[in-house]
Amino acid sequence: MTQSTSTIRGLSCALVGCTGILVLLGAASAGYYLTMRNLQPVPEAKTQKPRAEVIKYKPVKDNPIGPSVVTPSGRSGLTVKVPQGVIRTKSKDVVRSGKIKLPSKKSVCRDKKRLSDIVKRVAFDVDRQMREQTPLSVDEELDLGDRLDREVRNHPQFKGKVDGRKTRKWRAYLARVAQPLLAEIERRDIPYHFHVIDDPTVNAFAIPGGHIYFFTGLLENKGGAWIKTEADLAGILAHEISHVDMGHCAAVFEYLKAIGVTGKEAISASVILTLARGAFSSNQEDEADINATEIMIRAQYDPGSFAKMWQRWAKLQGDDGQKRTSDGLEGLINDELENLLRSHSEPRKRACTVSTQARDSLKAAPFNRYYIGRKNFKRRKPRVKKQY
Ligand SMILES: [Zn+2]
Repeated sequence: MTQSTSTIRGLSCALVGCTGILVLLGAASAGYYLTMRNLQPVPEAKTQKPRAEVIKYKPVKDNPIGPSVVTPSGRSGLTVKVPQGVIRTKSKDVVRSGKIKLPSKKSVCRDKKRLSDIVKRVAFDVDRQMREQTPLSVDEELDLGDRLDREVRNHPQFKGKVDGRKTRKWRAYLARVAQPLLAEIERRDIPYHFHVIDDPTVNAFAIPGGHIYFFTGLLENKGGAWIKTEADLAGILAHEISHVDMGHCAAVFEYLKAIGVTGKEAISASVILTLARGAFSSNQEDEADINATEIMIRAQYDPGSFAKMWQRWAKLQGDDGQKRTSDGLEGLINDELENLLRSHSEPRKRACTVSTQARDSLKAAPFNRYYIGRKNFKRRKPRVKKQY
């Protein structure tokens, strides 16, 4: 592993990883609107006339070459009381809240608590406390993001493959699927940059300052094995966004700041530290999965689709207690899964985390329908533009 390769691996909080061009988004005239029409009467407010809620998202800035950029906006401060929330009455590609299919506990939650889990939890809590005492300012994080983004672009493995014309449609699609998710996050002063790397790797990662990278290997979905619906993609996006929003990506730099290492030095020293901190990452992964599930439910994407995606990946990996079927794609899929697993927890464990959290969050969620988006993903037409 060259040092620069390990830089990329070490810095990232991949889906299976955290750099920046700060683009100021101007006039709101080009914003997207989702207007609620044909609303059913709200049961608890019969005397009131059902009112159309309007959810406004800030515009996305697309570039022929370069990332699609969007700042968090939308629902903050707006309470959506209608049972449909952002889903139109006529939309069919939805699942009713009582009918959401989540993998059973028995099938995906088989892990016994181990002593090492407790050690990891303690280490994670120390890690969190330390970060809280030495936070990076937003400006510091954005500056760090810019520098790391340049590192990614100039990395020998990715040079010439990041954000080319060929992947423009994907970048635009990612940013628009992210809009309703970004309306649900905590840190609202970070602009999000959606990048696509034209490379067959099946992965996605995030770096500090809101830069999120997807590989075409994950998006283009050979054999339809990886992502099947917009809800699946929303889950992965919400996971990467959570790493940024929860400060996971910046954590290592906060350590370095605490011990007085800054600038260029910090970027290379961070490699060593990040690698040394491997023990914490599975807890950060769990935390990001839990948060992602909550965000997608608040944004009304079907969490069942996302949980089943992890279950499907677990099956492909042969981690379902059943004999694997051979379908010709197995070789390719196994190679890619192995690659994925080097940086992440097992898909089955993630199916367990997502479905456990979904069961919990759905109890409190006010909506009665959740969007799936099978055609949306296939056609790269975001829900904010078209609901099937
Ligand atoms: Zn992750």
